[in-house]
Amino acid sequence: MSNETKEILELWRPYLDSLIKNDKFNIDSSVWDTEIDPIGGIELYYHIKQQEAEPINAEILNIQKLDSNKYSVKTAFYNLSGFGRSKNSSLNCIYDIIIKKKGKAFKVYNFLSEYTEDWSRKEVGNIVYHYTPSYSFNLGKAKIMSEYCDSLAKFFATESPKINYYIFKNSQETFHSMGFLYNRDMYDTYQIFGRTDPNRNIVYCGNNSEIFPHEIVHLYTHKYYSTLHSFFDEGLAEYLDFSIQAEKIGKRKVIANYLNNNPQINLSNILELEDRIGNGTSYKYDISCLLVEKLLEKDPKQALHKILNGGTKDEDFYFTVTSILDIEKREINNTIRGWLTNY
Ligand SMILES: [Zn+2]
Repeated sequence: MSNETKEILELWRPYLDSLIKNDKFNIDSSVWDTEIDPIGGIELYYHIKQQEAEPINAEILNIQKLDSNKYSVKTAFYNLSGFGRSKNSSLNCIYDIIIKKKGKAFKVYNFLSEYTEDWSRKEVGNIVYHYTPSYSFNLGKAKIMSEYCDSLAKFFATESPKINYYIFKNSQETFHSMGFLYNRDMYDTYQIFGRTDPNRNIVYCGNNSEIFPHEIVHLYTHKYYSTLHSFFDEGLAEYLDFSIQAEKIGKRKVIANYLNNNPQINLSNILELEDRIGNGTSYKYDISCLLVEKLLEKDPKQALHKILNGGTKDEDFYFTVTSILDIEKREINNTIRGWLTNY
């Protein structure tokens, strides 16, 4: 083992141990170059903490020298739940980071800046677009999106932040840019994916387009409204997405039909139901969108404020719904089913 490899292991291994143990995201400036990126490591932290209760193990797979002072380090993370019973741990993700010499010491860098180093940039209004030099950039679409951002700022009564918008081909490339060589979501069949990073004002748009309203809505909600329930968050993002109007109606028809065939389903417990309904529909996206629409209709003055500030607990969600509609929780089922008879 070379001295440099040893140095890298002495930097990365203890960091992994603390990452797995910590319940809170800690910025470690002795490991990450926080002058370049003040919150380095946050994607990895959130990814492996998603499966809260499951214990995780990490294994450094490979250290590859890229040039005289630059290395790529690949780490595998395993979920250990069931370990012992099934005798198998399961692969959670494989994550790639860049380690470079800064002065005398090594520092860790996010994969994104390395991956997009040679990319083109174009500023349109408050959006800075990042895309591969071979991508044929559509300025017309970018202008539509930039005006949309201004309209969202008005809608949410906030400032219009400067947004770094990355255009990726698909979900696979989106995750890869974040450093994931493998995770459980990146090779799904649908291959359209977005993620927002409100800390760095980044939207990762894996739909190969200048237009991705849904994810931009999340940037605003995550940045300014930490009291918004996650079920409303998706519904609101769908409600404000001008690019999917026709699909919305089609999805409501699918859900109406499904619920007619399943009268036993009780939508008064909608947060407890299995979310995916079928044919690409979901309670969390499509029913929530309908719900948001109806709540805003019912109380145009107060509903938005109540939704955004209502609280993140499930009982907060039910309270917001029932208080705006002025119904009991057990009446939610009939109310939603009633709306759907129009589709
Ligand atoms: Zn979303």
